[in-house]
Amino acid sequence: MAKEELECSFCGRKKPETNLLIAGLDAHICDKCIEQAHGIVMEELKQGEAKELSSDLMLSKPKVIKEFLDQYVIGQEATKKVMSVAVYNHYKRLLQPASDDDVEIQKSNIIMVGETGTGKTLIAKTIAKMLNVPLAIVDATVLTEAGYVGEDVEGILTRLLQAADYNVEKAQRGIVFIDEIDKIARKSDNPSITRDVSGEGVQQALLKLLEGTTVNVPPKGGRKHPDQKFVEVDTENILFIAGGAFDGIERNISKRLNMQAVGFSASKSDDKIERTNLLKYIIPKDLKDFGLIPEIIGRLPALTYMNPLDETTLRSILTEPKNAIVKQYQKLFEMDDIEFEMTDDALDYIVEKAVEYRLGARGLRSLCEAILTDAMFEMPESGKSKLKVSRAYAEEKLNKSTISKLKAVS
Ligand code: ADP
Repeated sequence: MAKEELECSFCGRKKPETNLLIAGLDAHICDKCIEQAHGIVMEELKQGEAKELSSDLMLSKPKVIKEFLDQYVIGQEATKKVMSVAVYNHYKRLLQPASDDDVEIQKSNIIMVGETGTGKTLIAKTIAKMLNVPLAIVDATVLTEAGYVGEDVEGILTRLLQAADYNVEKAQRGIVFIDEIDKIARKSDNPSITRDVSGEGVQQALLKLLEGTTVNVPPKGGRKHPDQKFVEVDTENILFIAGGAFDGIERNISKRLNMQAVGFSASKSDDKIERTNLLKYIIPKDLKDFGLIPEIIGRLPALTYMNPLDETTLRSILTEPKNAIVKQYQKLFEMDDIEFEMTDDALDYIVEKAVEYRLGARGLRSLCEAILTDAMFEMPESGKSKLKVSRAYAEEKLNKSTISKLKAVS
């Protein structure tokens, strides 16, 4: 065949009409057909992924989800259980084929109440990791600060789209973690006298997302690119997890519990109530009294609480989770062929200091950094092959570091 007669075996274009013609065994393909075929392949892949996602999700029964959480999150049994069930039900609802009966399973969005640093974000992250779905972490305080509310709430979905690499399908099955939800509470319980419009406005805007609605989302975020195209995102199947410290909510709980006690023998019911962690007794009404609007509370039906971290929990957090801090340092030293170990005494000491400086779990890492920086600086070139951190070593390094100055402040 003469060269100029070559043509694409798929579309029949002659060689001069193409930019590129690639030869196969008995056929040719032009650049346009390659592009088209590529598009088809990508589309198929996407559908395959969606199917894969479904079957993955189906495998995880609540107990399996809980076991996965156990590997990363110490304690917080109540929340892990509530979370496992809520997540299971959420994705069950999502995978359920449309049926003829009228029973429509509603979303089981979750709200976690507990001090900062007790593992709320960690739980949300771990769930997303397990399900292999995109996760967006947003701070509700930002929503109040911005002047124009509606736009910013959509920004939450921009984040989710980014986390999903702009795959809308994936984003629509993702998880949004809204931190510090308590900061958008109405400041007063009496809306007719002091109405905190901003907080309530954000709550109203959030409500739409929680309920399930189609939103036009600017894929690159709000204001910088006014002419960008919008992407339609349906929030119907997005799981929302909210978290907040709700500082002072114990007072509401205590008041309610005391009121209930009236008429019975007050002292008796006092005995039964564990005063150290009143959050355990939280009910939706307490959130309402704190200033969340009832509609929002209704859309976050799975309510659960986090326990404050005591010394035993902090101690476990250092060594037990799958990616425990100590394990991370072990790995870092191992890369320089250094065997790394911390004695029990040294670990106890770190926990003591975290409690003393009121640093919580987040502080464990800063304390370890302060203790180990010298070693991490010196050792890689020293030729030494072992580091055993004793209590004395930890004390010495910590006393030299700036973190020990915290003591003066507290
Ligand atoms: P919160 O969202 O409640 O403020 P985070 O989840 O961000 O707290 O926790 C901060 C860090 O403390 C986490 O990255 C984790 O390393 C550690 N941590 C907190 N609580 C736990 C826990 N229960 N189990 C394991 N690690 C925890």
